[in-house]
Amino acid sequence: MLKIDQSLSKYEQAKKHLAGGVASSLRASQKPTPLYAESAKGARIRDVDGNEYIDYLLAYGPLILGHAHDGLTDAILSAMRKGYTYGLQHDGEIELANVLIDILPCADKVALSGSGTEAVMLALRLARAHTGKRKVVRFHGHYHGWSDSIFTSFPGAGLAQSDNDGQTAAVPPGTQGQSENSLADIILLPWNDFAALENVLRVRAHEIAAVISEPVMCNSGCIQPKSGYLEHLRTLTKELGIVFILDEVITGFRLSLGGAHGRFGIKPDLVTIGKAMGGGIAISAVGGSAELMKHIDTAAVSHLGTLNGNSVATSAALATIRELKCDNGVVYDRMENLFIQLSEGIRELMHKHSIAGVVNQVGPVFHMMFIDVKEVTDFDTFNRRDSGKYVKFAELMLEEGVLLRPNGLWYISAVHEQADIEATLLAVDRALCKLIS
Ligand code: PMP
Repeated sequence: MLKIDQSLSKYEQAKKHLAGGVASSLRASQKPTPLYAESAKGARIRDVDGNEYIDYLLAYGPLILGHAHDGLTDAILSAMRKGYTYGLQHDGEIELANVLIDILPCADKVALSGSGTEAVMLALRLARAHTGKRKVVRFHGHYHGWSDSIFTSFPGAGLAQSDNDGQTAAVPPGTQGQSENSLADIILLPWNDFAALENVLRVRAHEIAAVISEPVMCNSGCIQPKSGYLEHLRTLTKELGIVFILDEVITGFRLSLGGAHGRFGIKPDLVTIGKAMGGGIAISAVGGSAELMKHIDTAAVSHLGTLNGNSVATSAALATIRELKCDNGVVYDRMENLFIQLSEGIRELMHKHSIAGVVNQVGPVFHMMFIDVKEVTDFDTFNRRDSGKYVKFAELMLEEGVLLRPNGLWYISAVHEQADIEATLLAVDRALCKLIS
């Protein structure tokens, strides 16, 4: 049995004065209880009850170099000794901007913020300012942060209203407290559907400022774009004068240093990155063509934030990039190979235990789900997975010394090793055995 006494008692204490007991709503879904971290190093994390886990949660994605990475820690500490944030400008911002321009194929200029949510807010603002139009097309199953103008309930938490022809009533709010009209400018479409895109964009181009999309549907099943879909999105938006935003908050620095658009060779007008960009320190960015970014240059678009581009965050991002670039980026092949091995191993184990399931793997990220179909290539099928069974599985994996995100998304870091993968497969074998007994 997993020891959780300390975590349980701390959660009770936290609930007294910390709203919701956790700092981000999603974390309350951890079963059997939200766990309290004691310390972490490399691919391992230890909780306050003394349990140690191989970590595939990786703080929901940012820890691409693992926990407490020596090079990153040194860079952060040496930046901190010279001050944390200045309110004045500093070399780190210039250096980071120069490096990002090299890394991100679509970017002539970048703007720095603190979170993925803020980067998306800025990208939408730039698109509206540039086109003088209001509407934004987004897709079922994608997530773009929790700001009022785009939040439609967390993927998997239930389907928002369908709007396949783009003509129906406004999308309802995703949470209480969001104004009824916040999503009045959102057109929600099924993803990977060429016809729906074509129909809506051609008919409503005069009012659509932007299409925003995750390049791979990482938030709902790690579903890949159909062959030619992102290219079609690119061509159609260009033809119709619509800004194409790729939300690479998960895939940026993860699918490659240049994100998914670097890996797939697509050139969006704007890209948003966050999470892995700072290796665990809060920083995000919007990158884009000079034509779009000029609206910040001219101050037509306000881009604000007290801690934007602070020297701790920029040095963390620069150190993360340095590490990921080592040996010509060989680390991406390593992470991918380990995850191919792990995902194939899990498929074999599900087969061995006669448990129906799918693992969708793309580079250093995959989604594991229990579902009785051969493949999961669309959001409706993804929604038919047995999420309760997966939550149970994730709980059983804790007993086996492996920390997972309870929704099925696994991340790997540059410091996970072959031995971790082998230990994890043994853990999966035992957990699946318990799951069916
Ligand atoms: N976009 C995507 C694709 C995301 O996955 C997330 C976070 N999961 C966000 C935006 C929001 O990022 P943050 O949580 O840093 O605000």
